[in-house]
Amino acid sequence: MVGMPHPEPRHHAATTTVAAGRPTSVPDAPMNTPLVPASTFVAGGEREYGRYGNPTWAAFEEVVGELEGGSAVMFSSGIAAVAAALGTIAPGGRVVVAHQSYAGTHALLDDLAAHGALGVTRIDVTEADAFTRALDDEGDGTGGATTGEPGAVCLWLESPANPTMEVVDIQTITRAAHAAGARVVVDNTFATPLRQRPLDLGADLVVHSATKLLAGHSDALAGVAVARDEQLHQRVLSHRSTHGAVPGILEAYLATRGLRTLAVRLDRAESNARMLAERLSMHPAVDRVRYPGFGTLCSFEPSGGADAAHRVVMASALVRVSTSLGGVESSWERRRRWPAEPATVPEGLIRLSVGIEHVDDLWSDIERALGAA
Ligand SMILES: *Cc1c(COP(=O)(O)O)cnc(C)c1O
Repeated sequence: MVGMPHPEPRHHAATTTVAAGRPTSVPDAPMNTPLVPASTFVAGGEREYGRYGNPTWAAFEEVVGELEGGSAVMFSSGIAAVAAALGTIAPGGRVVVAHQSYAGTHALLDDLAAHGALGVTRIDVTEADAFTRALDDEGDGTGGATTGEPGAVCLWLESPANPTMEVVDIQTITRAAHAAGARVVVDNTFATPLRQRPLDLGADLVVHSATKLLAGHSDALAGVAVARDEQLHQRVLSHRSTHGAVPGILEAYLATRGLRTLAVRLDRAESNARMLAERLSMHPAVDRVRYPGFGTLCSFEPSGGADAAHRVVMASALVRVSTSLGGVESSWERRRRWPAEPATVPEGLIRLSVGIEHVDDLWSDIERALGAA
């Protein structure tokens, strides 16, 4: 049921990915929720118009809502979900965000700040207590993190962070944020609800780029925001209806279909990533490897800086050179090729998104690319 939170999971997450979001089990019911092309519905029900809801979206929302333990709202992209989460902040509110966050989120925050909609305080997540100091009502100049602006109304967390893989203690930081009166949003794209359930750790809102691991096949753009609090869920829902960042039904169908295999894809890709991170860290041409110990993303820096990193990524035959992540196929890129990437990301950092291929083939390709460069 749309809008019904599920704080207690009924099944293990691997079962939920398969069992939730299906039509009621009656004779001749289809196994899967069909694609429903509808710009409007017969009046008198919950949906009314195609911008307010769709059964194909609802299937995806039911699965993700149950996985995260809240009520999910699907969007046309991850950044649309990010925008809706930021849209719940009162005008002029201040957002505290780590430098170590997705570049597109920074770009959107800059845009909102330039229009006076929000204030933004950026902190370094590797600095102990940076978050809690930035939550202060007024900057006192001692920490360098505070700005003298009013207290933060929103703390934006990404863990593991894109692309530098820092992990934050969501529970502890959330407690401090709530004590300071700030709402906490967690971008859970990298961990997925199978590795981390931020709402259980106290967060108010979870967002995902479902384009990545949730859909998992690099064939659809989608996003989702999940809240446990019904009022917050309604605000996110109303943001989608009024701003119109609605998913297409094909994307919704593909995303739900992708979710069905999330648990096995994640297990396989994670075990590959763990092995590759280990082998990379023993390779003489690699200066530094960042792998948080779980998940399918691994960043590393070959010796020789940006030029060497560029040569390495261009020398692969199996690992695709492309942005984005979380697909069944492995891909990599030098992140600083993007002008919007924060300068705190090293010039030579390569972000490797590990897929579900055989790990020996991946390692042969990577080892050869490192040798060629
Ligand atoms: C890709 C990404 C987004 C944005 O999602 P889109 O689907 O590309 O709009 C947001 N957060 C993180 C961590 C991402 O990797």
